[in-house]
Amino acid sequence: MHTHYDTIIIGGGPAGMMAAIASGFYGRHTLLLEKNKRLGKKLAMTGGGRCNVTNNGSLETILANIPQGAKFLYSTFAQFDNQDIIAFFEDNGTALKVEDHGRVFPTTDKSQTIIAALEAKMVALGVTVRTQAEVVSTTKTDDGTFLIRTADQAFSSHKLIVTTGGKSYPSTGSTGYGYDIARHFKLKVTDLRPAESPLMTEFPHQKLQGLSLRDVGLRVGKHQIQHDLLFTHFGLSGPAALRASSFVKAGDWLDIDFLPTLTTEELAEQFEQLRDKSIKNVTKLVLQERLADYLIAAAGIDPATKVKQLPVKQLTALLTQIKAFPIQVTGTMSLAKSFVTAGGVALNELTPKTLMSKSVDKLYFAGEVLDVNAHTGGFNLTAALATGWVAGSN
Ligand SMILES: Cc1cc2nc3c(=O)[nH]c(=O)nc-3n(C[C@H](O)[C@H](O)[C@H](O)COP(=O)(O)OP(=O)(O)OC[C@H]3O[C@@H](n4cnc5c(N)ncnc54)[C@H](O)[C@@H]3O)c2cc1C
Repeated sequence: MHTHYDTIIIGGGPAGMMAAIASGFYGRHTLLLEKNKRLGKKLAMTGGGRCNVTNNGSLETILANIPQGAKFLYSTFAQFDNQDIIAFFEDNGTALKVEDHGRVFPTTDKSQTIIAALEAKMVALGVTVRTQAEVVSTTKTDDGTFLIRTADQAFSSHKLIVTTGGKSYPSTGSTGYGYDIARHFKLKVTDLRPAESPLMTEFPHQKLQGLSLRDVGLRVGKHQIQHDLLFTHFGLSGPAALRASSFVKAGDWLDIDFLPTLTTEELAEQFEQLRDKSIKNVTKLVLQERLADYLIAAAGIDPATKVKQLPVKQLTALLTQIKAFPIQVTGTMSLAKSFVTAGGVALNELTPKTLMSKSVDKLYFAGEVLDVNAHTGGFNLTAALATGWVAGSN
């Protein structure tokens, strides 16, 4: 005996929760199945645990930050975009704020606020949510009914939405089950690859570990990025490093410009104006002290030396450390340790306007399971929430 629903959604991340909300909103008898104890485990980790729920940029900005799948998502965003996401939360009593680079967070700075808002909306719309319910089998009968099984229960539905996420950070529950569903129904799944990967570097992570910098410049060959950067115990993370991972490979050298808004000449001029002060004190004015100490030592300078006493060669060496600090990349992190999965259910298998499979009636996919990947900064979540809404509402 199966419990029957109009719509079943597999996977309780942002895409699945929003799909369930849209489905409930349109009056469908809806079931959301999530294998974890709690919903939105990966969502909770975004934005450093504060939940970077979307981005406030223009549609052009949003699309420019989705390196794969942007064109396909035009129809999605025509129905539900980042501004609809913001309105959705605010209309439901969740205050949001916009930070640097258009990143949107709850004013509480707590992911739980966002998850609770999504949960409350599902309850209000009469959605049934089952957690600790891992789907292990998904089939379709000849009469067009989907049969969904967990270890100890069976359900049936008229419509099925797959929102199982990608394959990165598998400890969050995203282990790639949705790709198996797609393959079972003979839909193409493109190659799965790591995206938004932290960079492992030779040096100097031990000394700078934990240092978090706003808006530094990062240059690799012809590529240039200006964004935040984090030194970790293995190398580099933060948006600048994650973005660079799409074109950096092991062995490449990258240059960090710690003060991209100043030219070398302007910086030299600033030092000259403070020529009676020690090099340490002057450098500390423009850089965090720990970084200043490190770069002064790397340039072989005694920090107590006054700027006016510094030989030109040494000052040039310091300015070079500040404006073009070289680091060699030894590799990028594996898929499991990357923030996002590139590749997924091939977009030409789906109708862009509805996200329904072209070959299997009433089978839908949304979120990171799709062959869509975006930069961190709220762009993946925008894609997940918006595609979730579209799949759930059609
Ligand atoms: C550390 C980290 C930081 C990030 N930061 C950002 C950021 O700042 N901005 C941004 O835009 N993106 C960020 N991302 C990416 C973003 O979190 C994901 O793109 C987004 O969560 C994808 O949403 P989703 O709903 O498609 O999938 P997921 O959030 O992965 O949810 C899928 C859900 O499906 C469930 N599931 C899987 N298989 C089954 C099954 N068989 N049965 C039942 N349930 C199942 C999983 O348990 C999981 O809860 C970050 C990712 C990580 C790992």
